[in-house]
Amino acid sequence: MNAAHAAARRARRRKRRVLTRQDAGLNAAHAAASQGLMPELSPLTWIVGIAALVIGILAGHFGWGRRWPPPLSRLHPDYLTGLDYLVTEQPDRALDMFLKLMEANADTIETHFSLGSLYRRRGEVERAIRIHQNLLARESLAPEHREQALLALAQDYLRAGLLDRAEVLFQQVSDVPRLRISALDSLRSVYERQLEWQQALNVYRRLARIKAAPPRVVSAHYLCELASIAMERGDAVTARRLLREARAEVSPFPRAAVLRARIAERDADIGLAVRLLRTALHEAPKLMQQELPHLLRLVAPEDREAVLTELVKRAELYDRGAPKRLVFASLSAGLTDAAPLRVLIEKVFADDPTLHAVWTSNSDRMDAGQGDTRRMAHEIGALLAHAENYRCLECGFSGRNFYWHCPACHAWDSFEPYAIVKLG
Ligand SMILES: [Zn+2]
Repeated sequence: MNAAHAAARRARRRKRRVLTRQDAGLNAAHAAASQGLMPELSPLTWIVGIAALVIGILAGHFGWGRRWPPPLSRLHPDYLTGLDYLVTEQPDRALDMFLKLMEANADTIETHFSLGSLYRRRGEVERAIRIHQNLLARESLAPEHREQALLALAQDYLRAGLLDRAEVLFQQVSDVPRLRISALDSLRSVYERQLEWQQALNVYRRLARIKAAPPRVVSAHYLCELASIAMERGDAVTARRLLREARAEVSPFPRAAVLRARIAERDADIGLAVRLLRTALHEAPKLMQQELPHLLRLVAPEDREAVLTELVKRAELYDRGAPKRLVFASLSAGLTDAAPLRVLIEKVFADDPTLHAVWTSNSDRMDAGQGDTRRMAHEIGALLAHAENYRCLECGFSGRNFYWHCPACHAWDSFEPYAIVKLG
């Protein structure tokens, strides 16, 4: 009895295996019916069943009721092809494919913003521009997407250096409340790069009114830029007013003190110019290399030693870099023989591994004795005359000149003295 029952079960299993190998549900149903498994189904039940099957297929095809992210098999084949082009580093073909896909499906707009932003950050600005222009060409684009695309396109133009076009678009987008801060801050960058300092200051003030301005030191720099322009055209009254405004923004502000010292010098008020420069060097020792020669030109010969003695004392109170900055500035200015500096120069040479190495490599060529330091100081002074003196702490850009505004990364106040001397 048990054996007969097991044989019947095996036969049913075989039958099911045969059924599951049928290609489609209809064939399976037909096969099942023909073998008497569903003899009682009415024609109405058949119609309902087929309709359910068709609806199921359509739902699967169009993704009705799907969850995000969709399974890979349900993604549009063009999307997969586009990804494949990206992976195989054919970005132009990938872009063509994604743009084609976008025409067919509004859901991919966010993907295109992401792709555009990615291209821009990689420096592939032309591709980013193409994506955003393509979005804007769509008549059916929702207003919020159109505004976002305008902002993105303006950022592409800014990155590409197309400043006039960027300016127009940023101005347009700055009327949109939710994009205002981003648009105004970028507009500020456009004016900075165009050296339109009054415009930059105006935008800064608009940002300040909505409590979204960068630190006040930025507006103080704008005011100093404007003061420099006023000084160039000989308008000392306006320049002084602008410098007062800069100091009202940030205090102490050494850049304003240095500019005010130049005005005082022009007005033959040497006492004021010297006081201002000494204050500026005290507040910002990084200006030493640039301003020390200027200060020493203004100081009467009999006062020079006292000024240098004070600078040495202050340098020793500061961080460990300050004595080195003063020594390098003094060597660049040819002050190797000044008495108050001699001890400091020797100390810095002995403590600094690089300078010590130069010392050692050159000592064979030198006479022994007291003249060593002086001669070494002359040699290093000559090397520094051809060295890159400054470096941007933000981006590493280096050069012979000091900049308040980095020409490479556009950061403010990011330059520090940095001697790159080729040894050997
Ligand atoms: Zn920089």
